Amino acid sequence: MDGMRVVGTLFGEGKMFLPQVVKSARVMKAAVAHLEPFMAAEKVGGSNQGKFLIATVRGDVHDIGKNIVGVVLACNNYAVTDLGVMTPVEKILDEARHLQPDFIGLSGLITPSLDEMATVAKELKRAGFTTPLLIGGATTSQDHTAIKLAEHYDGPVVHVSDASLVTGVCSDLLNPVRKESYIAELKAEQAQTREAYEKRQPRVIIPLSEARQRPLTLNTPPAPAPQKLGVSLFERIDPAAVAEVIDWTPFFVTWSLKGTFPKIFKSEKYGAEARKLFDDARRELDHLIKENRVHLRGVLGLWAARRRGDDVILYTDLTQKKELGRLHFLRDQLSRPTVKTCRSLADYISEQPGDYCGAFAVTAGQEIEEYAQSFKETNPYRHILIQAIADRLAEGCAEWLHREVRTKLWGYAPKEALSVEDLVEEKYQGRRPAAGYPACPEHTEKAEIWRLLGADRIGCTLTESFAMNPAASVSGLYFGHPQSIYFDVDGIGRDQVEDYAKRKGWTIAEAEKWLAPVLGYKT
Ligand code: SAH
Repeated sequence: MDGMRVVGTLFGEGKMFLPQVVKSARVMKAAVAHLEPFMAAEKVGGSNQGKFLIATVRGDVHDIGKNIVGVVLACNNYAVTDLGVMTPVEKILDEARHLQPDFIGLSGLITPSLDEMATVAKELKRAGFTTPLLIGGATTSQDHTAIKLAEHYDGPVVHVSDASLVTGVCSDLLNPVRKESYIAELKAEQAQTREAYEKRQPRVIIPLSEARQRPLTLNTPPAPAPQKLGVSLFERIDPAAVAEVIDWTPFFVTWSLKGTFPKIFKSEKYGAEARKLFDDARRELDHLIKENRVHLRGVLGLWAARRRGDDVILYTDLTQKKELGRLHFLRDQLSRPTVKTCRSLADYISEQPGDYCGAFAVTAGQEIEEYAQSFKETNPYRHILIQAIADRLAEGCAEWLHREVRTKLWGYAPKEALSVEDLVEEKYQGRRPAAGYPACPEHTEKAEIWRLLGADRIGCTLTESFAMNPAASVSGLYFGHPQSIYFDVDGIGRDQVEDYAKRKGWTIAEAEKWLAPVLGYKT
């Protein structure tokens, strides 16, 4: 059996030490695909490399990367204890005390998790731990690890940018000969990073009053009134229709295969593996649809809207008498060499009556997440594969729904006929910015979107960090104006923090906490 052969090479008897076996995504996938027999061996005590405690931090639900790391480690004879998602710091501490692991891995996707990781590091230090901490996840970075984490912890804190690198880090830290120099080098590098950060030229921050004088000005009238105002619920979105608009490129990124779809199949380095993985995914997707495992749901709202300052007020009807809700936007305050405007998403909405704005939330459903989970022990490759497909379905669902909005529900582009490539390249009119992303980087705004849409009813809820649960969910706002594009908001000054705190009913400390990733000054 092919599986046994691979397992034989990777986990051959008598091979106690398998350094760097799982180096590339290609080998990793082979390892993952054929993990089953190994997992059984592991349970009877086959792991001897070291104990690894791993968790996605409190408030965060994303765990594909963590699951891949777990499998890579298990393939390399580490005993992995996975605490799952939304793990409170107390639980990490308890398990660390109980297990006395050789490594603790912290994972997270969204920016609030960066703060939570700092909390975990501080609490572990307070409890006397010096166990190496490994950090991973989309918004984590070498800089964040050096500046916000390493300083608050006595043991080594290593940023692991790619699942395939984790075993290299672990074996260095376990190796009695290399360990000391590895840590010394790491600490020296991180000290340097902190020093460079302290010494860097302060960025030029434009005062809020001046930034507000430099909005984007709209040259054309707003998009016409929506065909259907108010909230529309989609309880059963056709997965086959959604499958047709999936952007597959991010799927390969998940597996560390670099390249865009479909060009990636021609890649000398990744082509063959990408093809195999894609074939597996397509087969699994067909199976999921046929077995009725996919329950795509969505909800969207389109409302009369009017800009007031950097807020957008939404109204129940066209008379604009009764305020239904309010979106709070931030304005870019960073002086940029090539950009003269200081944009805010609010600029896309008129200050006069006769404009509109929308919001949406879609989810690939709890059902598919549970189905994926059911393979966690028996077939980890399939577990991760289904999770990665669920992510694609959620993004595809957002794409599909946005097209329904442009062509029908709002209907400002009834004749739009774009290919999937055109959709991926955003060749349509209007945008769907997502709270927590660069143009509107503040996550708590999702609470207002959820309230306006009653989005809980599609089976998707917000965590205390405003992550969407299940993870395979997407939400955002709809802007219809032809000039609306994505941009970055950064360099938020104390003036805007005060202003935003007032608009949100927050203290300055609360505002600084939620705006941490885009603050233009040190707190
Ligand atoms: N086709 C990709 C789309 C995901 S990334 C996929 O299938 O994964 C694109 C999404 O990220 C956009 O639809 C938008 O919701 C969000 N986004 C990207 N850049 C943004 C920005 N600058 N501000 C706000 N949202 C942004």
